[in-house]
Amino acid sequence: MLTNYHTHCFRCQHAQGTVEDYVKQAISQQFDILGMSDHVPYPHHDYGLRMEMAEIWDYIYEVEDAQKRYGSKLKILLGFESEYLCSQRAYYEELLRDYQVEYLIMGQHFFDYGGSFKSSFAIRDTADCVRYAKSVAEGLATGYYSLLAHPDIVGVNRLHWDRNMDEMTDIILEAAVRCDVPLEINANGIRRGLIEDELGLHYLYPHFKFWEKAAAAKIPAVISSDCHAPHLLLDDDVVRTRRFAEELGVNVIDEIAIR
Ligand SMILES: [Zn+2]
Ligand SMILES: [Zn+2]
Repeated sequence: MLTNYHTHCFRCQHAQGTVEDYVKQAISQQFDILGMSDHVPYPHHDYGLRMEMAEIWDYIYEVEDAQKRYGSKLKILLGFESEYLCSQRAYYEELLRDYQVEYLIMGQHFFDYGGSFKSSFAIRDTADCVRYAKSVAEGLATGYYSLLAHPDIVGVNRLHWDRNMDEMTDIILEAAVRCDVPLEINANGIRRGLIEDELGLHYLYPHFKFWEKAAAAKIPAVISSDCHAPHLLLDDDVVRTRRFAEELGVNVIDEIAIR
């Protein structure tokens, strides 16, 4: 079974292609399920790198239109990639109930941090990776999310792997098991290529230290393209991502339960 639950489109302002472009790509590569999960817009606040709030219905109608026209050839899901911010809980519930969004994936690009928020891409101290993990665990406990995207995204900060990094990993894995949410092994990390440090040659994310533990705990994980252009839906880096997972013995699944 061929699936991808992490797919962007032109509306986020840093991707190419309409929903229909991704649908055609998925059909031509014989996918069974394509989940559209563009970056969620927020009411009253523009966090950047995403569609305007005013566009939300255009996006929803675009996906629903694709479902009507291509539904016999491909299962298409309406979703969003969303951070978890405590103050936005009512909005996330509205998305799932009133907007009839079929699933949310958690992509914790930033997180609540002492009354403000912190970018997961600008962490200088591994203690903040523990805070990142706690925000992920809190978000998963809400039951809003069907998948945890790039759980090891903080790898981009090139921090030394220390006890805090192990604690971060344990908090996330424990929350995924407790809340029964699958993890994602993200091909966009593979697309960034390998780096070399005291741990040897490895990807910033997916980080082998994180995934060794996930494999040992047998936590279900899907491979995601996280494509920002249609031709990346099933590119060489998605193939490399699958190989990475298989080599570490990760419990790879193809289909996720939609909440
Ligand atoms: Zn993006
Ligand atoms: Zn994404």
